[in-house]
Amino acid sequence: MASEWERYLRQQIELGGAEVVLSRSVSRSGGQAVTADPETTEADQPESPSRPADRPTVRPSWQKGAPPIPGPGLAVESPSHVLDDELVALDTLEKVAERIRTTHCCALCPHRTNAVPGEGNPRAKLFLIGEGPGATEDAQGRPFVGQAGNLLNGILEAIEVPRDSVYITNIVKCRPPQNRKPLPDEIAACIPYLHRQIEIVQPKVILALGSTAGEAMLGVRKSLGELRGKVHTYNGIPLVVTYHPAALLRNPNWKKPTWDDVRIARQLLDR
Ligand code: URA
Repeated sequence: MASEWERYLRQQIELGGAEVVLSRSVSRSGGQAVTADPETTEADQPESPSRPADRPTVRPSWQKGAPPIPGPGLAVESPSHVLDDELVALDTLEKVAERIRTTHCCALCPHRTNAVPGEGNPRAKLFLIGEGPGATEDAQGRPFVGQAGNLLNGILEAIEVPRDSVYITNIVKCRPPQNRKPLPDEIAACIPYLHRQIEIVQPKVILALGSTAGEAMLGVRKSLGELRGKVHTYNGIPLVVTYHPAALLRNPNWKKPTWDDVRIARQLLDR
């Protein structure tokens, strides 16, 4: 069955916006995607005497109509004082995850079924940050495995980045009751784990999903509208903020700006 995101992309094409061409071909590298774009012809290709005539260079379909990379936003450094020596001594993601699973650091922890430390490629180039686990994530101990996760999978597929090539985690690792936003003291207690996870993974690009993630990473109180459309940096790593997938389920008007934002992040991966 077509995912929510696939339906959106198809609609773009049918409306004649034709900014994107759906593709099922996903590059395993998440870097050198070579999906054939039916609108790219031989005539579009630069002259290259060495290119074999039967193998035209093709442009990934997500690139079509992608916005240019915007200018710089905020530049922040990780607050080193929140990382105590014990946390710095945890030198693998699995050790950090074990600490999260075995520690109660705030009022959310006693109510969890499972902590959700995060998952993915320890050498991921793209690092995704959500807000906090929902009911399905709490039940399974894995991030973004519910409805919002399905939408996120579709988005990653559309930019030709396999889900297993990225690292995905949240600002807080335990589910807030009734999926409310995490409180400032809950964020403050949990965010050192996230800083340590980023230090270990050393991603090339960070994508913050939603204003809670954007604000917590950048240490500001701003609306999503103010946070998106810029390339911020966190310890020098480009950081893009976009809408949370769950917000897209509530308001489809945000799909277009999200599609633009993720294509900015995708271009930064190739830079
Ligand atoms: N929403 C989030 O922010 N994180 C998840 O893991 C799932 C839903």
